[in-house]
Amino acid sequence: MAIPEDVINEIKYRNDIETTISQYVNLKRRGKNLVGLCPFHGEKTPSFTVYPESSSFYCFGCGVGGDVFTFCSLIENLDYIETVKLLAERSGVTLPQDGYDDSMQRLKNTVYDINRETARFFHNYMMSPEGKWALDYYMQRGLSLSTIKHFGLGAAPDSWDSLIKHLKSKGFSVQDMLTANVIGKSQKGTFYDRFRKRVMFPIINIRGNVIGFSGRAMPGEDKQGGKYVNTSDTPVYKKSDNLFGINYAKNHCSERIVLVEGNMDVIALHQAGFENVVAPLGTALTSEQVNLISRYTKEIVLMLDADAAGQKAIKRASQLLENTGLSVRVVLIPDGKDPDEYIKKNGPDRFRALLEGAVSDIEYKLLMAAQDINLDSDDGRLKYLSAAAEVIAADDDVMARDIYIGRLCEKYGVSRTALTAKVDQLRRKNIRQRQKKEINEIIKPVFSKNDLNPDKRISPKGCAAEESFLAVLLQHPDFYEIAKEQMPPENFITSLNRRIYEILVQTLESGRMPDVSVFAPKLTPAELGVLVSLQNGDKAGQNAKTVLKDCIRVILEEKARLSSSDTSNASVEDWAASLKDIIEKKSKGN
Ligand SMILES: [Zn+2]
Repeated sequence: MAIPEDVINEIKYRNDIETTISQYVNLKRRGKNLVGLCPFHGEKTPSFTVYPESSSFYCFGCGVGGDVFTFCSLIENLDYIETVKLLAERSGVTLPQDGYDDSMQRLKNTVYDINRETARFFHNYMMSPEGKWALDYYMQRGLSLSTIKHFGLGAAPDSWDSLIKHLKSKGFSVQDMLTANVIGKSQKGTFYDRFRKRVMFPIINIRGNVIGFSGRAMPGEDKQGGKYVNTSDTPVYKKSDNLFGINYAKNHCSERIVLVEGNMDVIALHQAGFENVVAPLGTALTSEQVNLISRYTKEIVLMLDADAAGQKAIKRASQLLENTGLSVRVVLIPDGKDPDEYIKKNGPDRFRALLEGAVSDIEYKLLMAAQDINLDSDDGRLKYLSAAAEVIAADDDVMARDIYIGRLCEKYGVSRTALTAKVDQLRRKNIRQRQKKEINEIIKPVFSKNDLNPDKRISPKGCAAEESFLAVLLQHPDFYEIAKEQMPPENFITSLNRRIYEILVQTLESGRMPDVSVFAPKLTPAELGVLVSLQNGDKAGQNAKTVLKDCIRVILEEKARLSSSDTSNASVEDWAASLKDIIEKKSKGN
């Protein structure tokens, strides 16, 4: 990974952190920094901070941090080299052709090539006389030939080795085929085609590469291997990060995206003229998928089956979507049909009407609250109104609350004052619970930092001193001269801090500035978060030199104490005291 440092610096200079992050996060100025809602975890109050002065970012909620490369690598789901390439491309910097290790990129390219060739193989087989059964199946499902071609659909023959033979003839190695997960290896060590006698849906990412496959068994033949066989995670594919159809939908969904359950629903709706449709790949909706969607659209319409599983999926999805700023609506398909069936029976216009009539998340919840309640009895109505009050109380929009309260009062003949009082009472309870949760969230990162640097338990006092020591040096690199004699990295007690210090020492010894980018390739985003918070925190303060000397003294004392005494005695009270200290500092506002 030896891209010349001046090239890295030029790319960084041209992709200014504030402008780059603004493309993904709505940032507001706060003093000399900027804040926004963190794109990496759900939150309602902004704790994601950008520091233009040091070209870095840090989230006080989930602890990730780093430079412009770390940010793009996380949000675009790319590795370090790919991120450098992307940002170089965006800003017109030419990278030197060789001289750095891109073996991972080569492997990924090979997997893309294998996938593309495999998709072609499946498609050609389906178009041949032997594959007519598959073409017939798609046609029976109402797909036109042009739709079939557009989605690159195909089929796997009923054979254990025809794909292997074909890919070998194209020059691919068995090892690479295994990596691409298109073949498997038996316990006896023989290789076999993973997909047999199935109709095949290629999965294509936003850049148009085939990244994996979803294979569906023919009706009545799904005993072996189940109804669906999908690509497992490979270097280019993680099912929880991708959505079927996103490659087409991304250009048609600036206003709204529709989430359906299955691949066939996506294809059938696309054929009927609805191009803004995606489906999760055999999983419940994940937060990664929500992040992907939220980059392209303002509103998401959940169109899931009306059965119990579908209801559960809607509930889960609306919880995930709650903190994203996307508006959420729900479509209930009459008669428990799936979208594919509905559109075939009723046509696109009726379907569009269904889409337009999608109810808001709150209306949907009000509808659901009425299920299984007998509204003809006083008892039932009372039960429903309490449930409905809960739903309304959860909405933060005072106007929306007023509208729904009004509607319910009219419909069920209760007094407005009574229902409003009930909702207000529930809101006060919710707010108390939320405050409690927020306090817990403030405490949580402290614990996760302990997981990052588990040695902290050995000597919380030493660890705190190390952190302040690093903070001073990061902010006043010239003080290194004072420290270096007494503090070789071996004197550090905790491993994460020692690693940070080692990189810092190397950098300063070679006469460079300890910029976040020096650390970015060598630490994880969570570890970088620790670094950025030290670099931008106020630990160094005004008496930085005194703080530095105190820290050295504490670290050396702790080191001596640990090597002389029984380490298992590392005092729990010490640890608790320093934890309390940190929490107090945090709650005073970093
Ligand atoms: Zn965060």
